[in-house]
Formats: sequence, structure tokens, C-alpha cells
Amino acid sequence: MLFVAIRITGSGQTNPGRVRSANEDAWGVFPDLQFFIVADGMGGHAGGEVASRLAVEGMEEFLQTSRDPSEITWPADLDPNLPWPVKRLIIAGQTANHKIFDVGRSDEKLKGMGTTMVSVLVEGDTAYVAHVGDSRAYLIRDAKIKQLTEDHSLVNDYVSQGLLKPEEASQHPLHHVITRALGSNEHVEVDVQTLPLRPGDELLLCSDGLSNLLTEEEMRSEITGSPNDLQAACERLVNLANKKGGDDNITVALISSS
Ligand code: CA
Repeated sequence: MLFVAIRITGSGQTNPGRVRSANEDAWGVFPDLQFFIVADGMGGHAGGEVASRLAVEGMEEFLQTSRDPSEITWPADLDPNLPWPVKRLIIAGQTANHKIFDVGRSDEKLKGMGTTMVSVLVEGDTAYVAHVGDSRAYLIRDAKIKQLTEDHSLVNDYVSQGLLKPEEASQHPLHHVITRALGSNEHVEVDVQTLPLRPGDELLLCSDGLSNLLTEEEMRSEITGSPNDLQAACERLVNLANKKGGDDNITVALISSS
């Protein structure tokens, strides 16, 4: 197979925000795997931190050991016709899910912990975007921003059913309630979508500590402010969320293709 030679770089940043003493978010940028992830943990002080860290570590570990498809036994219930990177992401998410679920069951202090996950795996000129929960992925292309992921959240269900206006969702008292998480149940469904990349594309992964406070236009403007300095753009996004209240942990990862 011939791949377009797209170059991928990534950077990330996390901040506890201005209200919370602990940071239950986690992130990872793994250039050798072309894998990028943000996770937002929940379930008490210790639990949230552990769950989000296990999501990052668990998915990275599976991706490290699944570079060669011939060495992997795929679960029987997985559609064999799915593209290989899609299968890898689904099983990576389910592997992390098992790990978090098992640890949560065996330790009273960690009982009930779970985490969101949004991640990108790039292969050739294609990005595969996986998510569970309400952490989001956005695409910035041709100076426009577009949300790629659909939140697995109660308020998003309300919006789909016409019970709530989209602009009311982030301020709704139940906006933090998610309907899918890694580690909450023995099985989890991982959504994966395929995105053909173009040079100049940027992808933003973020926890709701960012997306609840910044408008899409604010995100776009902070990201495109310094196209060649991802770290500076990550810092600007975090700083703006803190300026606008910082009521939750704030985590971002930025991926750029050139
Ligand atoms: Ca959060």
C-alpha cells in the first residue's frame, strides 16, 4: 500500500484549573505509535486519577504489542472486515476498560471509578478517532473548526430527543453525567471514526474542562494563532479556560499534520 507522506506531530498539556485541588485528567502523546489520548477520570479523589492513568497506559500498552496483526488473536465478536487500526483501537479501549473495571472491583477505595477517553491513532494519511464519554475531538481545517465526536452524555441524549437546546447543554445541572465510560462495566462500546488527513489539518483532543468554557471559535482562534508551535497553542487554550473560570481540570492534546 502506498501512503502519502504526511508528517504528524503532537503536544499536550494539563492543568488542575482554579477550583479543584486534584487533577483527575490524564493525557499521552506517543509519537512512535502516532497515538494521542486524553482521559477524564471520575469516582472520588483517588479513583479518578487512577482510572484516567490506567486508560492512557492500558491503551498505549496494547498498541505497543499489536503492531503486527499476525500476532493478535482478535475477539470472536469483532467484525473481521473492520480496518486494522479500527480493530486495534476498539480492543485497546476494551483492554483498558477491563483493567480499570478489575482494579476498581478489587480495591474498596477505587470502587466505582471510571474515565472518559478520546484518542487518535494515525496510520498513513488517515486518522482514526476513538472515544467513550464526553471528552471531545475537533478538526481544524481551512481555518474552520468542527466537532468530530458525539458526547456519550445525558444532556446530549436530551438534545437528540429535542428536550434541550444545544446551547443550553453545557450549563445544564446534569451536564457532567456521562452515559458511557471506561471501567464502569465489564463491557464497553468504543466509537471509532475514520478521517482522511490533509497537510495542514490540526486535531484537538480535550476534556470537558475546556469544551464547557470555550466556544468553538475561541478554540479555533487560540490554535491557529501559532501554527508551528503546538505547545504554545496548548498553553493558550489552558490559560483561556482558566481565565474563564477554570472550574474543572483542563486537558488538551493537539495533533498537527504537515
Ligand atoms: Ca472533567
